[in-house]
Amino acid sequence: MKFNCPSCGAEVVFKSRFSIMGVCEYCSSTIVRHDQNLEDMGKMSEIGEDMSPLQIGSTGIYEKKSFEIIGRQKAIYNNGSWNEWYIIFGDGKEGWLAEAQGFYMVSFEKEDHKFRYSDQKPGEVVTIGNVKFFIDDIKEIVYKGVEGELPKTTFFDSKATSIDLSAPNNEFCNVLIQSDKTYMYLGKYIDFDDLKFKNLRELDGWR
Ligand SMILES: [Zn+2]
Repeated sequence: MKFNCPSCGAEVVFKSRFSIMGVCEYCSSTIVRHDQNLEDMGKMSEIGEDMSPLQIGSTGIYEKKSFEIIGRQKAIYNNGSWNEWYIIFGDGKEGWLAEAQGFYMVSFEKEDHKFRYSDQKPGEVVTIGNVKFFIDDIKEIVYKGVEGELPKTTFFDSKATSIDLSAPNNEFCNVLIQSDKTYMYLGKYIDFDDLKFKNLRELDGWR
């Protein structure tokens, strides 16, 4: 979908039909789409430099299907941060690639889950589908900084509770709680090399 930036008039392209938010490449205005109307949200805080080898435009392969990175949001917590890269596949399916301390997790939103947070603790077991997941950790986070285009489940500049769970066979689950909403993302831990990235960022002084 193509739009004209309400601030500078430049063409802005949303690659994913799920995207409601994008950043104009020319004037850096953040644009939110409401049906056919565009709202200029002004300039958002920048993501800042980090050591990620990934960038918007990087491509990779997950379960034999190729994807492209089209957006990013950054989650900040007490002791650090991680990146959540928004990805689309060739067939238009959307997903997330989380990048945290050298770990990579590809996941997809599961809409009809029954998980409710009620003071669960790390180490407890939660059954999702037929799989027993362990709660690895629970963090209070805030999302800061956006880049590229992002879908409706974007949490800009807002606080959330993030719960990471894992199961054997590299299964990964993230539950995100924000006010009265609970979102679930299911997927897998996957090795960097297995994602077969292309168009990675050149990092100065690295390798
Ligand atoms: Zn613009």
